[in-house]
Amino acid sequence: MSKLLLITFDGGAEGHQLAGFAQKLGLPFDVLCISGEAPTEIGAARVLNAGLAEVPPADALAEGLKSLVAGYSHIAGLSNMRSKDVLARLAGLIEAGMVTDVIGLQSPTSFTRPMVAGSVIATVEVLAEPVILTVRPAGFPADPVSGSSPVESVTLAASGQAQRISVTARGGARPDLSQARVVVSGGRPLGDAETFERVIGGFADALGGAAGATRAAVDSGIAANELQVGQTGKIVAPELYIAAGISGSTQHMAGIKDSKLIVAINKDPDAPIFEFADLGLVGDLFEVIPEIRAKLSV
Ligand SMILES: Cc1cc2nc3c(=O)[nH]c(=O)nc-3n(C[C@H](O)[C@H](O)[C@H](O)COP(=O)(O)OP(=O)(O)OC[C@H]3O[C@@H](n4cnc5c(N)ncnc54)[C@H](O)[C@@H]3O)c2cc1C
Repeated sequence: MSKLLLITFDGGAEGHQLAGFAQKLGLPFDVLCISGEAPTEIGAARVLNAGLAEVPPADALAEGLKSLVAGYSHIAGLSNMRSKDVLARLAGLIEAGMVTDVIGLQSPTSFTRPMVAGSVIATVEVLAEPVILTVRPAGFPADPVSGSSPVESVTLAASGQAQRISVTARGGARPDLSQARVVVSGGRPLGDAETFERVIGGFADALGGAAGATRAAVDSGIAANELQVGQTGKIVAPELYIAAGISGSTQHMAGIKDSKLIVAINKDPDAPIFEFADLGLVGDLFEVIPEIRAKLSV
């Protein structure tokens, strides 16, 4: 029988983001919660709670997941670096089909996904079963669900060749870029790391959001590597994306397409980003950002 397993790595928020996909797919579904708070209110038949203190390294986790995913026709996680790392390994181990970055579906075996930096949308028919999917949640808004799902404890035995020595958090208390509701990103004109942190980081903090950057900013040492947004960086889908001093290259836009509202600040009225922005402010970011902050009193 066709059945979906949603996989959440470290908390209920991921389950809520995947709920809309499960509703659209329309199959009965369970949620496997590896670590963090179990998402019990998204309409799952069962919540399988592994209850690990921390998410194991990818090779061990993929190995441990093998037995837990048996019997499911579809296995899905959020589209992010961790899913692509763990779920791609799992697909190899269990010889499953895999489609990443799913943004739509026509049937339980036919999915749409962006390709070539988002300039084309491919429809992919998967003949293998099971199929493993990574999903971009912006394409699947969820309907409200009532009631709470029963929780069952499961054992996830994760041991592999890699051992995590230490984890150092970067970016302080800011929300994770891929999960943030507000993202403020800056480009090359920020000039140096101190200015980037003061202008972009400060604005992001004032709005309770995450800071992001273009590859040009990262390559010039203005912003940290993990802040890169785009085709070769992180894919974001916030409620509000503010792009300051960003030209709007195809590669950058590929990472922000699913944002609900894009606000661009650029001093060049012909900058390509204005073609995509919902709101465009022509002006110098070093004047416009303080003006906005003063108006919002943040
Ligand atoms: C294979 C490949 C993969 C790539 N992947 C990525 C990716 O993942 N992410 C990514 O971002 N890029 C990526 N790039 C790079 C991309 O092509 C662009 O070079 C990059 O996005 C440009 O960054 P930028 O907008 O900061 O800089 P620029 O293109 O230099 O643009 C700066 C903009 O700021 C404006 N400006 C200047 N001063 C001010 C000011 N004071 N106030 C307001 N506006 C101002 C200018 O008018 C200009 O529009 C990739 C490129 C390749 C080839």
